[in-house]
Amino acid sequence: MAPLNESARVPVLSQARRLVIKIGSALLVDARSGALKSDWLAALALDVAEAKARGTDVVLVSSGSIALGRRVLGLPAGTLTLEQSQAAAAVGQIRLARAYEEVLAPHGITAAQVLVTLDDTSDRRRYLNTRATMETLLSLGAVPIVNENDTVATDEIRYGDNDRLAAQVAITIGADQLALLSDVDGLYTGNPHSDPSARRLDVVAAITPEIEAMAGDPVSGLSKGGMKTKVMAARTATGGGCAMVIAAGSPLRPLTAVAQGAPCTWFLPQDDPQVARKRWIAAMKEKGRIRVDAGAAAALRQGKSLLPAGVTAVEGTFGRGDPVAILGPDGAMLARGLVRYTDDEARAIQGRRSDALAEVLGYPGRGALVHRDDMVV
Ligand code: GLU
Repeated sequence: MAPLNESARVPVLSQARRLVIKIGSALLVDARSGALKSDWLAALALDVAEAKARGTDVVLVSSGSIALGRRVLGLPAGTLTLEQSQAAAAVGQIRLARAYEEVLAPHGITAAQVLVTLDDTSDRRRYLNTRATMETLLSLGAVPIVNENDTVATDEIRYGDNDRLAAQVAITIGADQLALLSDVDGLYTGNPHSDPSARRLDVVAAITPEIEAMAGDPVSGLSKGGMKTKVMAARTATGGGCAMVIAAGSPLRPLTAVAQGAPCTWFLPQDDPQVARKRWIAAMKEKGRIRVDAGAAAALRQGKSLLPAGVTAVEGTFGRGDPVAILGPDGAMLARGLVRYTDDEARAIQGRRSDALAEVLGYPGRGALVHRDDMVV
């Protein structure tokens, strides 16, 4: 049993502000026939619709493209080569996305396909693009359906498993909860198949070496991830301020089951997502410096974004998404943040009002030079 104070911190699924749900291949695709489990998917859509109706932003990270595509192409059973997996993913991903679109539409929910590679979350510029696109989709009420872009991702630049991908997506968009739905209902102290004394943990407050040692190797035939990748995902998610739950996905309406007390393991977040993100920004080494006037300095102190109009000088060479230091008129460091323009663009628009940006840049600008969400004052 977890001590009382830990149980009190266990998140409640229905209170999620922004929820990422990872769906493993084994849940969606029948291992024998290779067919999509439509009843299960329809029931999941009900859970998603309910969460959306409560005001929760929902993002699905779904596996299944390879499992769905391999049979269509007549590929043999067993392990596929990388090229075969990529071909299978190309065929299966269309079907996967269509399945989500069809199952969410009756609830008035628009599905959006987002295919990402490791680079899209590790490269800062592409990370900002990914985040901006997801934010826009969520603000428009859509449900992004995310998968790795398996067709083009080669081994070196690949997550390979959607557990870690889902954790990265969760922290990229500042989600407060991540649910990993698969064929296991939690983290056990040992292998429950071979060790009769193995028991499931209700709550993991910190990922210690003991917890890591409990994670065995992959078990399921279809899924790439095992308990190891799930614990690695938990490390990423909780370190970024996102709570994570491992729960059995196979019951119809698996989220409702968790909400009603089905067995699962919760990993508690180490921090609030915003705090964790700001800590991440604060720790970066700056590539350039932006000097601002007294008006802009006062605005930053009030928690506002940095607009080009208040900039008096731009120093250094940087790209979009790079960390910069923001200095006040007296030269003292005011803030640190991720800049939304290259240094050349920043110089071109410094001192300009926001409505003049399009003319200077030749394209509609992105408003703030450093957005307040990307800034630590
Ligand atoms: N991206 C892979 C697919 O859609 C699955 C990876 C995984 O199972 O974790 O088939």
